[in-house]
Amino acid sequence: MAIATINPATGVTEATFDADSEAVIEHKIAESHAAYQSMRTTDFATRARWMIAAAEILEAEVDDVARILTLEMGKTIGQARGEVLKSAKAMRFYAEHAEEFLSGWELDEPSSVGASRAYVRYQAIGVVLAVMPWNYPLWQVIRFAAPALMAGNAGLLKHASNVPQAALYLDTLFERGGFPKGSFHSLLIPASRVEGVLRDRRVVAATLTGSEPAGRSVAAIAGSEVKHVVLELGGSDPFIVMPSADLEAAATMAVAARTSNNGQACINAKRFIVHTDVYDEFAKYFGEQMSALKVGDPFDETTQIGPVATESGLNDLQEFVDDAVSKGATLVTGGGRVGDAGWFFQPTVIADITPEMRLYAEEAFGPLASLYRVADGAEALKIANDTTFGLSSAVWTNDPNEEAFFVGGLDVGAVFVNGMSISYPELPFGGIKDSGIGRELSAEGIREFTNLKTVWKG
Ligand code: NAP
Repeated sequence: MAIATINPATGVTEATFDADSEAVIEHKIAESHAAYQSMRTTDFATRARWMIAAAEILEAEVDDVARILTLEMGKTIGQARGEVLKSAKAMRFYAEHAEEFLSGWELDEPSSVGASRAYVRYQAIGVVLAVMPWNYPLWQVIRFAAPALMAGNAGLLKHASNVPQAALYLDTLFERGGFPKGSFHSLLIPASRVEGVLRDRRVVAATLTGSEPAGRSVAAIAGSEVKHVVLELGGSDPFIVMPSADLEAAATMAVAARTSNNGQACINAKRFIVHTDVYDEFAKYFGEQMSALKVGDPFDETTQIGPVATESGLNDLQEFVDDAVSKGATLVTGGGRVGDAGWFFQPTVIADITPEMRLYAEEAFGPLASLYRVADGAEALKIANDTTFGLSSAVWTNDPNEEAFFVGGLDVGAVFVNGMSISYPELPFGGIKDSGIGRELSAEGIREFTNLKTVWKG
């Protein structure tokens, strides 16, 4: 894939970029390795000062950065600004909490292991490679970089090829805050050159957010090099609605859960599983609100849904709909492209999904919602879990027994009760099954790229 900014609202290529040469990559890796050697001896307070300075720069440049995000991948300008400010908030959060998360612990009775003192501490491990997707060009990177740099690591970013301007902005952000040169670098390379970087002995671990094939490839290489890997892959999250729920609130939240980021988030709700007693009413509210959404220019402040980010993404959505309709599914609303310039797709709700349809098993990345009618909680749980994914989920119920049933039974990394899935710096984020390995965010996330060192003293 060419490294280029292609405006999804017009299909026009705005700028192209040459890939970094091997010599440039060697220079960046060497600089990052040197930066790590100096960062590992700095204290938390120093790194926190740099991190907060970088957050302040980001906040001051919110409008410019938001424009880059909207131009390169089509999210609405309001959501782009929200992403920038959320990223700055996460930087402040790790500046404040990294030391506490990495302080380790001490054995109360060291004599039980024959020691006068026994304790564990978390230490930085080195240069970590981050392979990142285009859907949250800033947030996905910051949620890796802020904790990793606060721990004392250095980061190398291979960003998605369609967001090079976001990658270049991130290349200097931390250095501008005060971090040593090379503590964070963007590598402008195609996916085919990830392997060479990951096999470099100075690169000690990797994290990838993206599709399952990309994740499997990076994990296989990391495995063969005995390097730690964290994977945040796809999802087809269930959104379960039971009769005890506040139905209007559920339907309104369902729209946001399916369409935020133009429907291109791993944790967008994608499968809406609704109890038969409230199915018709829910489908009516949900369908009406989806069809009322304003689709259009993502730079227009009143637009609610912008284009999907790529032409192939648009074609995928159409193929999902055509496949399902040809096998008996019913369109509640939408179902096709909007206009012929840019990559806009109608907010779509499709019902009567069966296991023969691709939508039953695959992830739809765009404003396309699948509706399922179920007889009871047991059937809802069966369908929710009948997937290779296991990222997040939402359950709408006001019955404590039902809540406990779903919280216990869903095979996922997170359950949101009477709400929608959102990633917060304060809470662990990640999936099970084919949705990934490991966790980002919170204390668990920052510890992923550290060495848990045990110290025994006689
Ligand atoms: P993608 O094609 O996997 O791209 C993600 C990143 O991986 C890009 O930087 C891409 O580079 C790189 N890449 C692709 N193939 C690779 C390979 N074989 N080896 C090494 N790197 C490779 O994913 P996408 O289609 O852009 O993003 C959408 C997917 O990401 C969805 O499945 C979504 O659910 C998932 N996602 C997951 C999370 C999460 O936290 N779980 C968050 C966001 C998105 P190029 O651009 O150069 O190809």
